Amino acid sequence: MQRERVADDIYVFTSDLYVQVTAGVVVTSEGAVVIDTLAYPEETRLIKRFIESRLRMSVRYVVNTHFHADHTMGTCFFEGARVIGHALCRDLLEKRGRESLEQAKTNAPEMREVTLALPDIVFEGGVMNLHLGNKTLQLWSTPGHSPDSIVCLVKEDRTLFAADTLMPIPYFVDGNYDDFVESLNRLRNHNFENVVQGHGEIILRGEVEEKIAEDLDYLLKLRAAVDAALLDPSPDAALEAIDIEQCGKSRILLNGAAPQLHRRNVLALASARREPAQL
Ligand SMILES: [Zn+2]
Repeated sequence: MQRERVADDIYVFTSDLYVQVTAGVVVTSEGAVVIDTLAYPEETRLIKRFIESRLRMSVRYVVNTHFHADHTMGTCFFEGARVIGHALCRDLLEKRGRESLEQAKTNAPEMREVTLALPDIVFEGGVMNLHLGNKTLQLWSTPGHSPDSIVCLVKEDRTLFAADTLMPIPYFVDGNYDDFVESLNRLRNHNFENVVQGHGEIILRGEVEEKIAEDLDYLLKLRAAVDAALLDPSPDAALEAIDIEQCGKSRILLNGAAPQLHRRNVLALASARREPAQL
């Protein structure tokens, strides 16, 4: 696990074990806020130890940016902290998180110590502000990657935790393509100092607008390619042939996991674009 300090009071942890997933810690004069956890207990425990032993702080809140297991399975290790998320995150964790945790426990013995922890403070639509000591965390809904996705801005530092709304390749299989485009457009021109992606490297101030433009460009190229493939006499073969690099993203992103995510995007978008014709 890598640890980086992105501002005086903000640390980011990046997993070595699971596709560069990230978690954050915001230090305030009244305790710490953890933004997402890492996929395996071993790494989340190291974050907890860092906060308690090195920073000598207790964790007051854990923010769940969305229900996906790689971001939420460590919540249970911060006993005593209140958990914040979108109302849909709580619903999805109850419905789908429970199942995927049981699945994970059969596949990986180290997951047996994980219990499902649900957000106990939830919001729907709009913006939620969390004032803690000298910091203000502003949370708002950014559906697209998943319906419950939110981002979290540390206002004083202008650091945005974008979660999976910004990752090396946009991924909307559990969410919605059009919502994703809208959420990305809404992240433009905010003058962020740093943006922490849900997976992969931190984006610095001068690179943020370019990164959002690249992701929108990928989504547009992908849709044009899918629509063209659906008009082809053999649409399945044409869909299969849509290459990630033709849509402007490198295949080596996310330690080589990007082409697989791209392939699932192609299939999800194709089935969404076919639907109206089938009505
Ligand atoms: Zn996710």
